[in-house]
Amino acid sequence: MKIHEFQAKELLAAAGAAVPRGVVATTPQEAVAGFDQLGGPVMLKAQIHAGGRGKGKFKDSGKDFGGVKFIKSRDDVQPIADVIFKYPLVTKQTGEEGQRVSKLLVQEAVDLGKEYYLGVVLDRAIGLPVLMASAEGGVDIEEVAAKTPEKILKTPINPSTGLQPFQARRMAFALGFPADQVPQAEAIMTALCRVFLDKDCNLAEINPLMVTPQGKVLALDAKMTFDDNALFRHPDIEKLRDETEENVAELRAARAGLSFIQLAGNIGCLVNGAGLAMSTMDIIKYHGGEPANFLDVGGGANKEQVTEALRILLSDPNVKAVLVNIFGGIMKCDTIALAMVAAFQEVKPKVPFVVRLEGTNVEQGRKVLADSGLNIATASGLTEAAKKVVAAAK
Ligand code: GDP
Ligand code: MN
Repeated sequence: MKIHEFQAKELLAAAGAAVPRGVVATTPQEAVAGFDQLGGPVMLKAQIHAGGRGKGKFKDSGKDFGGVKFIKSRDDVQPIADVIFKYPLVTKQTGEEGQRVSKLLVQEAVDLGKEYYLGVVLDRAIGLPVLMASAEGGVDIEEVAAKTPEKILKTPINPSTGLQPFQARRMAFALGFPADQVPQAEAIMTALCRVFLDKDCNLAEINPLMVTPQGKVLALDAKMTFDDNALFRHPDIEKLRDETEENVAELRAARAGLSFIQLAGNIGCLVNGAGLAMSTMDIIKYHGGEPANFLDVGGGANKEQVTEALRILLSDPNVKAVLVNIFGGIMKCDTIALAMVAAFQEVKPKVPFVVRLEGTNVEQGRKVLADSGLNIATASGLTEAAKKVVAAAK
């Protein structure tokens, strides 16, 4: 689960990190009130879960500013906020349709100085969280990671002690912080690692960490994602969920008890069992296709779930063909066939379907499909099914 920048900064501040003052607005009027409250030049920062906002653009707005805008005069707040709330923000992480903005962080503008990068991720190779930092920070950290990875410093974190003070100091000196700024840098690194561990994050990032010309070290931007499997331990984090930012199809699927992940291809997959779903995606790719999703209806899916699964699949305009791959173990093939026929009558799909059924009651299941008169191609093996659906999608 992801949260917004302002929420991540609240968590960091509570753990002892210095962050700029800010107010969250949901309307242009509130943004003006925020300007008055902070009393001076502000940054208007569009709150969306995607990154790269600073270099983004508001789609069809005809304006050339992005989701992070410096505002000097009070009179500019309203017209700029109007644009921010009206048009979707497109960044390199949103896709071309962009993301609507419903919350705007009005933050005191900080004088620009040197920008650093700080991040904590899980290093699976060593089985520990790792604090990463770079003095070549700012918005182009991905480029630093790709071209000069040696400029990213790393130190592993012991989960039972957190980041040790000596580790933070060593990192701060290695980054080139002058001695009088080291305690501030140390406090922010410690807070970031603390939040990562305490809240079961997958990622916690400050980019940029800013050193102002006055020598103040501040978390100017923050990003966090949390381990969904640990959310039950953190009701306070679960409350920060913003459903307007989440994939609509994935939310619908979660409500129906289906495991669904949206992907970029054009072949919809409806499968029972996670392992079978993985191998179905593999074999589609092996035969030159691209899956549009991962969808596991589970071992005991009923008619309602199969119908909802088909609705979700077919609501994606990229889906040009669908492969249904069912192994009837607990689930009986005739049950799923009946569910499909019922679902077809309701959903009326316009794209070709390929079905591969195997397992318990497979004969009855095939008969149900054959007698239905529906336009469904059947396949007797996984390879044949994959070849047929890849051809159908082209
Ligand atoms: P992102 O593009 O989504 O990562 O959004 P950021 O919050 O990181 O903002 C992008 C860039 O805007 C930063 O790298 C800074 O250069 C600039 N910026 C953000 N906040 C301030 C601020 O308070 N003052 C100034 N002068 N620039 C800022
Ligand atoms: Mn940033």
